[in-house]
Amino acid sequence: MTECIFCKIVQGQIPSQKIYEDEDLFAFHDIRPAAPVHFMIIPKKHLDSLVHCQSEDQALLGKILMKAPQLALQQGLHEGFRTVINTGRGGGQEVYHLHVHILGGGLMPPLQTKK
Ligand code: AMP
Ligand code: ZN
Repeated sequence: MTECIFCKIVQGQIPSQKIYEDEDLFAFHDIRPAAPVHFMIIPKKHLDSLVHCQSEDQALLGKILMKAPQLALQQGLHEGFRTVINTGRGGGQEVYHLHVHILGGGLMPPLQTKK
């Protein structure tokens, strides 16, 4: 049995605030929102991170990105949104099941300049 928390969310073993599901994708609100609207789109297929994607996953990655603006609009982000993919320890990834963060509501601050 998988120990992956996001696989468990997909399988309904851990509750989530789901906003979308189809045969390949699942989207749900982040439990610790970093913006007024903050949700994630994940593939149902377990992939640890972007680094672990193969060419066979290309269409799946495209499907996630194409779904992002549709769901963002449904969530009221008519002024735009930020899309974030954290990859690996250096990228601040906490959950090793590939996910795309969608953040918005109000104006997002610019990315911080390197100190
Ligand atoms: P990352 O740092 O990109 O790996 O982000 C993982 C995200 O998953 C964080 O923003 C967490 O708040 C979020 N998260 C962790 N557990 C849950 C959960 N059970 N339901 C919803 N979001 C979660
Ligand atoms: Zn998983």
